[in-house]
Amino acid sequence: MRNIPFHKTYITDNEINAVVEAMKSGWLTMGPKTVEFEEKFREYLGAKYSVSLNSATAALHLALKAIGLQRDDEVIVPTNTFIATAEVVTYFDAIPVLCDIEVDTHNIDIIQIEKLITSKTKAIIPVHFAGQPCDMDEIFEIAKKYNLKVIEDAAHALPSKYKGQYIGSLKNSDITCFSFYATKTLSTGEGGMATTLNEEYAKKIKINRLHGISKDAWDRYSSKGSWYYEVVDNGNKYNTTDMNAALGVEQLKKLEWMAQKRNQIAQMYIEAFKNNIKIELPYVKEDRETSWHLFVIKINNRNEIIENLKDMGIGTSVHFIPIHKHPYYQERFGYRNGDYPIANKVFEESLSLPIYPSMSTTDVDYIVRNILKLVNESN
Ligand SMILES: *Cc1c(COP(=O)(O)O)cnc(C)c1O
Repeated sequence: MRNIPFHKTYITDNEINAVVEAMKSGWLTMGPKTVEFEEKFREYLGAKYSVSLNSATAALHLALKAIGLQRDDEVIVPTNTFIATAEVVTYFDAIPVLCDIEVDTHNIDIIQIEKLITSKTKAIIPVHFAGQPCDMDEIFEIAKKYNLKVIEDAAHALPSKYKGQYIGSLKNSDITCFSFYATKTLSTGEGGMATTLNEEYAKKIKINRLHGISKDAWDRYSSKGSWYYEVVDNGNKYNTTDMNAALGVEQLKKLEWMAQKRNQIAQMYIEAFKNNIKIELPYVKEDRETSWHLFVIKINNRNEIIENLKDMGIGTSVHFIPIHKHPYYQERFGYRNGDYPIANKVFEESLSLPIYPSMSTTDVDYIVRNILKLVNESN
């Protein structure tokens, strides 16, 4: 029996040596390596400003703070996402207004968005599910019509393209948030990045990632000595370390190659399953390029198949348990299990298969063979 975990980060001696170098430099916290990582990251995407943070959750939090979110404001969030996307809205005592998804892409349904807008709506957080960009032009149009901000949750979308442009560089977007969590397509263990074209937003996020301390004041009053600083906001402690950044710089060098590997695996799955009527393959719209962070198929007896695959040494996962099903969100905001019929149906049938660069063709064959066997045996 093989043992194929659901995910494995691609780490080589390059990453290990880079982290050791950062440690030897004597500068462990946020410093020159962080600046280098931020620069290389925005160069890669063609973004204007980039601010590194210790998670995508931190990036989303400070993005909402940068746009000035207030108590009782409403933010539209798809229900099919990781809890962080809605959680950050609650930090402000604001309301995450959940939205249903499209049955084919599993992305936020733009037809539903407009129905949810009220005089209190301040922003939309589209999530590029599995790496496939949302209908951004339509979302920007709605945002313009109702004067809303757009914060992209791009935790899955590195690298992904919308109409030929990298997610993270779209000119109508306010702020885009990336994750470098252990399971993501570029990993620094823990980490995140906010990109934006807006200098004000970048400045606010930078100040708030380190206690609301203003560097401007530092520069202005440098005659007072290097000990001087001013606190201009109620900030957070969301900075990264140079060890994380060193890991990020190395991972970024192979990002393109890792994406190609995932694409090859995705094409193998597609080829293997395309003629099986019991397996629904992921659907990618023509003008999008997905990172293939996740490869999600839909099958009828999903729970049973997960258990059987586990017995065969194959790790899988489910993305996501919709937010409206979680007790906290039901108790606080009144959501019910039966809300959002599309997301519920998608959730019942979805199965995320292993997809990462170190998988071999033999691994993929083994997964394919066993899934076909299980699916064909079932009714
Ligand atoms: C992973 C993830 C996040 C959170 O990322 P962290 O870096 O762990 O904070 C947010 N949104 C989505 C959709 C995610 O998958």
